[in-house]
Amino acid sequence: MSTSKGTLPTIVVHGGAGEIPEADRPAHVEGCRRAAQAGWEALAAGGSALDGVEAAVRVMEDDPTFDAGHGSFLNAVGEVELDAIVMNGHDLSLGAVAAVQRVRHPVSLARLVMQKSNHSFLVGPAADDFARQHGMPICPPWELLSERELERWKKFQAGEAPPPPDYFTPCGTVGAVALDEQGNLAAATSTGGTPNKLPGRVGDSPLVGCGAYADNRSAAASATGEGEALMKIVISKTTCDLVLQGLRPQVAAEAVVELLGERTGGHGGLILLDRQGRFGIAHNTSYIAYAVAAADGSIQAGICYPAKK
Ligand code: ASP
Repeated sequence: MSTSKGTLPTIVVHGGAGEIPEADRPAHVEGCRRAAQAGWEALAAGGSALDGVEAAVRVMEDDPTFDAGHGSFLNAVGEVELDAIVMNGHDLSLGAVAAVQRVRHPVSLARLVMQKSNHSFLVGPAADDFARQHGMPICPPWELLSERELERWKKFQAGEAPPPPDYFTPCGTVGAVALDEQGNLAAATSTGGTPNKLPGRVGDSPLVGCGAYADNRSAAASATGEGEALMKIVISKTTCDLVLQGLRPQVAAEAVVELLGERTGGHGGLILLDRQGRFGIAHNTSYIAYAVAAADGSIQAGICYPAKK
């Protein structure tokens, strides 16, 4: 199916910036490809940019390859705590949740908060209750758990995992940015955070301007990486502002990743999309998995490797 409007609709997704062991790379690429496909189908059916990013992120939340929804990293007490955000570039409306433990699709809960409450951000058991009150399916916490992450957690408990900051290297936060047929932008990010994090720890992902940002006047961005560093430079908003100043998305993304390293010493990456359908992907981690669905529905998925210096 193709659209008549050149670059519309378009969707870009990522599957996290960090280390991706060689054996896992095909699953990361395929997971991103399936997510971009789902997002593009939502857009091509006339859905909004928000529908597109939500559809894409839901696919990755269901995929235990990624650190989002089912299969997320466990915290220090062996529990999954999930964070997510959605933002609409048309009117800057946003919804976010943090430390939720009973929903398979935090991205949809974030959208519910945006649309069915007078607030922007709900956390913890109260956010899970909000989901229940609005008829969203609730799951027992163990349903979010994967064998792989249980094994990783056991290694941490046995003192066999590398100490910070190296503990950060596994990745899998997910995100999407989309441009719909009306020319509106949206962004979404969803994560289980970092492995062995303290209970109650919230990273950049659900924070507006950090884990994601979308403004029709500039661009839509979704970031991933060391949350404690990313939030210091409000990475997504900073990148969108560079697009507003006239930088091409790829140039803006690279500039902000450089800034991240310079000002914080941290590692991460992001995807970026503007209203002309131009996108950017940059990272200073080893890898970032991504997929891009163009207006004609063709999908390019892959892994960005470390830049040669
Ligand atoms: N940014 C996420 C966090 O700090 C982790 C990641 O993107 O891998 O929670």
